[in-house]
Amino acid sequence: MNLYKKNLQKVLENIQKANTKNEKIHLVGVSKSVTSEVVKQMYDEGLSSFGENKVQVLSSKINDLKNEKISWHFIGRLQSNKINQLIDLNPVLWHSCDSLKKAIEFNKRLESKNKTQNTLLQINSANEDEKQGVSVELACEIYEQISLTCKQIRLQGVMSIGAFSDDEKMIQKSFEKTYKIYEKLKPQGAIYCSMGMSSDYELAIKCGSNMLRIGSVLFH
Ligand SMILES: *Cc1c(COP(=O)(O)O)cnc(C)c1O
Repeated sequence: MNLYKKNLQKVLENIQKANTKNEKIHLVGVSKSVTSEVVKQMYDEGLSSFGENKVQVLSSKINDLKNEKISWHFIGRLQSNKINQLIDLNPVLWHSCDSLKKAIEFNKRLESKNKTQNTLLQINSANEDEKQGVSVELACEIYEQISLTCKQIRLQGVMSIGAFSDDEKMIQKSFEKTYKIYEKLKPQGAIYCSMGMSSDYELAIKCGSNMLRIGSVLFH
């Protein structure tokens, strides 16, 4: 069995084990550290959603793999001067909208192109200086403001990166905070709670995640 098939099967098996409530859980393969050829190999094993954190790299991989039916996600920090380029790439989901200001900027460009963008609001759930995202306290309010003022942005839920910590309890706490916000936003159309990476996806599932962004354990 080839390596990628083995990795994918193991991850899918672990997801199934952790998913005791039998929810529909989406797996996004984070391909930022591998080549387009490797993405193609993983795609051939049955994974069809991939995420990138740099617009330039996303663009070249989309171009390399334009004949495959891949759903591309954008999960990285977005610089203002890359907004137009990202919109033109038509990602299925922008996970990392991290402020009202960014949303307003993005919305303006969408208006001028007469397009819409499915989007998640990124939450800095462990309140870490080095991390992007809105605070837990303001998340619902900002979500609502974006919904009201940015008509071309289709908010579909929230995204968060677990606390940088060796202490599982700390990570769990950050996931629980994000999930609570997600639940509050369900009446406003939130359908995705994107949390969980290679080191913490099983915990994320237990805390209610329904979208995992997994890189290293799939591609090592
Ligand atoms: C790199 C990255 C991931 C995947 O991380 P792994 O630990 O390799 O699974 C998930 N989300 C974001 C935002 C990332 O930048």
